[in-house]
Amino acid sequence: MPASKGYAALDSKSSLAPITFSRREPGPTEINVEILYCGVCHSDLHMIRNEWGNAVYPMVPGHEIVGRVAAVGNASKKFKVGDIAAIGVIIDSCRHCLPCSKGEEHFCDEGATLTYAATDRVDGSITMGGYSNNYVVDERFAHTVPANLNLAAVAPLLCAGITTYSPLRHWNAGPGKRIGIIGLGGLGHMGLKFAHSFGAHVVQFTTSLKKKEDALKLGADEVVFSKDHAQMKAHAASFDFILDCVSAPHALDDYLPLLKQDGTLSLVGLPDTPPSFASFNLITGRRSISGSMIGGMVETQEMLDYCGQHNIVSEVEVIPIQQIDEAYKRLLRQDVKYRFVIDMSSLK
Ligand code: NAP
Ligand code: ZN
Ligand code: ZN
Repeated sequence: MPASKGYAALDSKSSLAPITFSRREPGPTEINVEILYCGVCHSDLHMIRNEWGNAVYPMVPGHEIVGRVAAVGNASKKFKVGDIAAIGVIIDSCRHCLPCSKGEEHFCDEGATLTYAATDRVDGSITMGGYSNNYVVDERFAHTVPANLNLAAVAPLLCAGITTYSPLRHWNAGPGKRIGIIGLGGLGHMGLKFAHSFGAHVVQFTTSLKKKEDALKLGADEVVFSKDHAQMKAHAASFDFILDCVSAPHALDDYLPLLKQDGTLSLVGLPDTPPSFASFNLITGRRSISGSMIGGMVETQEMLDYCGQHNIVSEVEVIPIQQIDEAYKRLLRQDVKYRFVIDMSSLK
């Protein structure tokens, strides 16, 4: 295989820089995907800055990948050369434990292999992500993409999409339910679109007043400015489920009193400091706090097919890879509508 090209973080502080590295030839059930688009997830920023303490450098981030199959192994059945394929947050798992046998590889008992900054199960190398020109993956961990969808706008479905689709399905967002989404970012705007599409009454919470009109257009029935105490109080004890998509530390006690009896607040956002909350806000009304992580291969394909049927994609700003540092700065200022996606043809 010719050397792969990408952009890498070399430490937790510097700008991303071009890098070359090697990927193996695809094995019998593997495919080599020429990457067309890769979304920019806030997790990429947490990771390159080592905010979760598990960074490995050089790190090529990127786990919202859409590309064209350039080569297939001699036993691969799902793809042929020229097909569009998509790769998300995990690229391997033990494949035989109970969660894996149910297609819930993200909960693998032995730990799933992440798309970047993890140890590859096949060759022991450190996995390099989608800010690059190609990816080699077992076809079990790649997805087909509905032909009617814009490919740049599909890329974020592979993380932001499945991470919000899965908990909304698990906690039965649908007609008759009041669902809150906290944070109108990459994850939040997909949560809003899905909850609306499932038929729930959706309330978007935001700290950015300027996003109100967008939230309404994206499907919110109501928008609450979460810094306004009176607006928050007006929603006391009214939600069946709240999905917390916030990337920075914030007060859960502002939201727990808004849950009905037996309501659940589920965390998908991963700020670098642990959340805290008053136990009284849980015992009153037997409320729960839970969490959810991406989704397995079966549900990720189900989500992509659902998006094809309902014409759902991400709102994206397509950028060349040379603008990645500026994109990170804007992400931190909550200034993106609503996901940056790198056009990988810019990688020379
Ligand atoms: P993002 O696009 O930056 O969106 C985060 C949103 O949080 C912002 O748009 C903003 O919404 C809100 N926010 C930011 N700072 C805030 C603050 N100080 N106080 C209150 N609200 C604030 O990030 P993302 O890519 O959606 O990712 C969100 C989080 O989910 C990250 O921590 C990421 O690592 C995590 N994540 C988890 C999973 C999983 O499997 N569980 C998967 C992917 C990502 P408003 O402007 O509307 O207030
Ligand atoms: Zn992500
Ligand atoms: Zn497993």
